[in-house]
Amino acid sequence: MFKKPIFLIALPVVAIAAAGLFLYVSNHGSRNGPRTDLIYNWFRDQSTLSEYWMSSGVLCGDAPFMFPTNGLVGFIWDDSFRPGHRHSGLDIFSGTAPGVTPIAAAYPGYLTRQPDWVSTVIIRVPQDPLEPARQIWVYYTHMADANGNSFVAPEFPQGTSEVFVEAGTFLGYQGNYSGDPNSPVGVHLHISIVKDDGFGNFLNELDIENTYDPSPYFGMPLNANTNTDTIPFCR
Ligand SMILES: [Zn+2]
Repeated sequence: MFKKPIFLIALPVVAIAAAGLFLYVSNHGSRNGPRTDLIYNWFRDQSTLSEYWMSSGVLCGDAPFMFPTNGLVGFIWDDSFRPGHRHSGLDIFSGTAPGVTPIAAAYPGYLTRQPDWVSTVIIRVPQDPLEPARQIWVYYTHMADANGNSFVAPEFPQGTSEVFVEAGTFLGYQGNYSGDPNSPVGVHLHISIVKDDGFGNFLNELDIENTYDPSPYFGMPLNANTNTDTIPFCR
């Protein structure tokens, strides 16, 4: 009598298990369940979580960076939105329409907006306040609507290079630009602290290895490896 080899029976079971794991990870992030579940609930019902609301201009403890906009810290450094993905910054959600909630520079520096940047500026900080021997860059993005109409402040048109700005300088408004008009993101600011290449250029902020843990800069628990269950905030 023909007997099915064991792997033919085992294979579908493995495939189903793998699909289940994939869906779980996609929906819940890899390891940040309690905190990200709160955020996903807030996306459905924005009357929740008011106790975690942060205001623009707040300085937390002795931290050097000012909180740059109004909103809820929804996602933090090293959160994961899909398998293999690692989030390089923090996302601050205003809950307003696009183009309403202002964004201010968290720290002084020299602002550049490359000629093809629709929704983004980057600010060079020659002396990292935490490590004065090194230069860092602070990256701000999603400042446009779904169709790519920019909300970056008119003072900083495309092609702006090395314009000095103080902390608190108006940079633009939170938007929902993703690059794909059919699939905008929720209205927020993404801000990240980007490494220098050692030759005066910023590295690609999409790779988390090119960024710093923002926690000590903002004085908040913004690292998903150590903060799995609380929404960061301070008064
Ligand atoms: Zn982000």
